Amino acid sequence: MKRFSLAVHGGAGTILRANLTPELEAAYHAGLRAALDAGQAVLAKGGAALDAVTAAVCALEDEPLFNAGRGAVFTSDGVQEMDAAVMEGASRRAGAVGGIFGPRNPVLAARAVMERTDHVMLIGPNALKVARAADVPFDEAPYFFTQARWDALQSTLTMRQKGLEDDDPARRHGTVGAVACDMEGNVAAATSTGGMTAKAPGRIGDTPIIGGGTFADNATCAVSGTGHGEVFIRFTAAAEIAARMRHAGQSLEDAARHVVMVDLADHDGTGGLIAVDAKGNITMPFNCEGMYRGTVTEAGNFETFIYR
Ligand code: ASP
Repeated sequence: MKRFSLAVHGGAGTILRANLTPELEAAYHAGLRAALDAGQAVLAKGGAALDAVTAAVCALEDEPLFNAGRGAVFTSDGVQEMDAAVMEGASRRAGAVGGIFGPRNPVLAARAVMERTDHVMLIGPNALKVARAADVPFDEAPYFFTQARWDALQSTLTMRQKGLEDDDPARRHGTVGAVACDMEGNVAAATSTGGMTAKAPGRIGDTPIIGGGTFADNATCAVSGTGHGEVFIRFTAAAEIAARMRHAGQSLEDAARHVVMVDLADHDGTGGLIAVDAKGNITMPFNCEGMYRGTVTEAGNFETFIYR
């Protein structure tokens, strides 16, 4: 049997264990499982890693529990601005969008940029125009709204006013992503996010930054990150894992672990990432309480996790 592997994440901004009800826990696992099902269906019939990560991320964007697409967090101005990226490891083609609102699945807008333009990243009205031309489905504000994210914005703004902002990851951030290695040994990554709660309008995080929160190269690995985006950008987190593999001969696991547990952790960069190499090895390190995550391989073992 030919090998493939897929990993997904629903963000390192997990709810604190003390606040997790059994119903909510089951809903998070079901959301991750739906994404694994969507990606696995592509890979099991010999489909491309790029299609698998796109399908998995669409499923996560459609699930309001996760901070991407429907259920995205709000900026300090009370609007939603979404970032997304895709990259394929065979060609190192990539597409990204930043600060957009409208497409139900920002990852499809990112893919349209990759496939229909000569550019890697678009923002503003033309990003939406390219998505519309690609028949990406759009929706209005009520579709994307969730009371939980709105309440999180209000409590963040209140804390901020009093100078008491805490760093509860469940309130602050979250993201979704997928990495895959297909039967041909091609890797791909996709990431999508609403960013950080109460972020400044116009703020772009690491998600759409190639080499920051998203990266794919068949010679090394595919990576999708989640966490404090500014630190991921400053430490070029995803590209650093590839560099450690390429230049220092490190394994995927050692390289990813160093970046998450040392580079990011030592600089207030809470979060984690999922990564896969062209042999199908998967690693999913994180330096905070939890990260919604799951994996499936050709053997058909679906596994989903929230905490350590
Ligand atoms: N990395 C995302 C951002 O900074 C947020 C997250 O993953 O929690 O936009």
